[in-house]
Amino acid sequence: MANTTPCPQCSSYDVAKNGIINEKQRFKCKSCGYNFTVAKMGKSIDSYYVIKALQLYIEGVSYREIERLLGISHVSVMNWVKKYRIKIPKQEFYTPTYRILNHKELSEFVIVPGNLSNKGMIITELGDKFMVIQWTRIKSI
Ligand SMILES: [Zn+2]
Repeated sequence: MANTTPCPQCSSYDVAKNGIINEKQRFKCKSCGYNFTVAKMGKSIDSYYVIKALQLYIEGVSYREIERLLGISHVSVMNWVKKYRIKIPKQEFYTPTYRILNHKELSEFVIVPGNLSNKGMIITELGDKFMVIQWTRIKSI
């Protein structure tokens, strides 16, 4: 992801999005590990997080959980659900579980066959980590 915000500590441009804090974009510098926030212009939040939040919402994750996972207020998420007219299809055979892993943890997770069998799975980037969403079958179809 191209970025024009340099690290205030070491001036490196090699920075990654690392969550939202008080509606400000947080970045983590990949060179020195420094975390910093950048005020958003206006009230808009990067569409990157809008899409992540709506992905979680449609998988049945609650507003409060989305707030906890992404650092975006549940009010913002509710507004996006309204704005984009998102409706969750009724779903009774699978239940979503999700976990946030760094690259090493993700590698260790997917290498275990039992972690993948009989479960749908998506892996999506989340700041400098990865989010794994899985669907565990709760009822046979
Ligand atoms: Zn730095």
